[in-house]
Amino acid sequence: MSLFDTRTVFLLCGAMGGLMALVLYSLKRNYPPSIRGLGDWSTALLLMLFAGVLTALRDRVPDALSISLSNVFFFGGLHWSHVGTQRFFGLTPRQAPWLVAIVGIVGVHLWFTFVDESLLIRLTLVNLTGTLFMGAQAWLIRKNGPMRFAKALAFGSLACGCALQLLRVGLAWTQSMDHNIMGPSPIHQLYAMGFAVSILLYSIGLILMATDMLRAELELLATRDSLTDALTRRHWNALCASELERCKRTGRSVAILALDLDHFKAVNDTHGHQAGDKVLVAFVARINGHLRQIDRLGRFGGEEFTLLLPETSLVQALNVAERIRADLARAHDGPSCTVSIGVVTNQHDNDTVETLMARADAAMYRAKAGGRNRVETG
Ligand code: GH3
Ligand code: MG
Ligand code: MG
Repeated sequence: MSLFDTRTVFLLCGAMGGLMALVLYSLKRNYPPSIRGLGDWSTALLLMLFAGVLTALRDRVPDALSISLSNVFFFGGLHWSHVGTQRFFGLTPRQAPWLVAIVGIVGVHLWFTFVDESLLIRLTLVNLTGTLFMGAQAWLIRKNGPMRFAKALAFGSLACGCALQLLRVGLAWTQSMDHNIMGPSPIHQLYAMGFAVSILLYSIGLILMATDMLRAELELLATRDSLTDALTRRHWNALCASELERCKRTGRSVAILALDLDHFKAVNDTHGHQAGDKVLVAFVARINGHLRQIDRLGRFGGEEFTLLLPETSLVQALNVAERIRADLARAHDGPSCTVSIGVVTNQHDNDTVETLMARADAAMYRAKAGGRNRVETG
């Protein structure tokens, strides 16, 4: 007895693909272009819609459509989805070998449809091809970045899709198989139902992967300065506030440095704005060379930077500042530029980021007034 109508399930596979294609297309339109692959995934799922609908029309339309064309759409969908995943991970897809393989497979498929009819060979060919494409995609997802829920879902649904197809091939070769794929045979019913669920879970996995990437990009935008990769002022302030609270609780000292490049306007005026940008980037790289992992460098704006040194005494902070100053003063790569630095540490329980910054700034301006290329404290 049949639990469900296989034809309806194939139709459901197609409908699922179509709906998910729509969702991914709307993500493509609304997400920044830096999140790649969404258009390819949407196209792939649209092709799965055509494949599902044509398969469901078996015996109602000519075999050329319901068997041959439906499988062309199926292979196309698998390929496009693989291309999308490669683009998503920033890879350049090598399409030619896969397309050549698909053309060859379609040729063999046509032969065993119209010349030497064999459902067994066709089924084997289609499901092994499916396993190859899905396996390649699952592998890509597995090896690119940490396995979070979204990736695990996409990976898991692809792995289940592979297992399902191999199981179908195994059953087809070892059990007596109903030649009507719309019939009540468990070989076909299990495959159709499993495929419908896999498409749904796979698409949700892709949507979540894209959303994860968007969140990571927004987080980066909010926390990192795009030119120098130093922390943004807002993020630095937040980190500094929580570090200050922690140090107040433990009675430890935290140091804050205000750094301002000297006569930086002259660098721009003499060498151009782009050269000025390079000086800023090189300055940050140079400072990073003097920092521990727990230290935090922020860009306050223009050529002004702030540095948070947790658990650091005034003497230690003055040493760090002096090393940075001296390093920059003797640098000979690019336009010459020096830095003035104000250094302070927390002293009172009622110190806040604002009061510490005001003192660091005042010290930095004293360094300017004292002739620049100096370190002052306050
Ligand atoms: P002082 O020694 O008193 O600090 O002089 P200064 O010239 O460094 O200071 P001023 O405030 O007069 O000029 C800062 C300059 O920094 C002006 C501005 O064009 C430049 N600047 C700000 N942001 C950027 C940037 O992102 N890239 C480049 N190339 N220049 C920038
Ligand atoms: Mg300056
Ligand atoms: Mg300035």
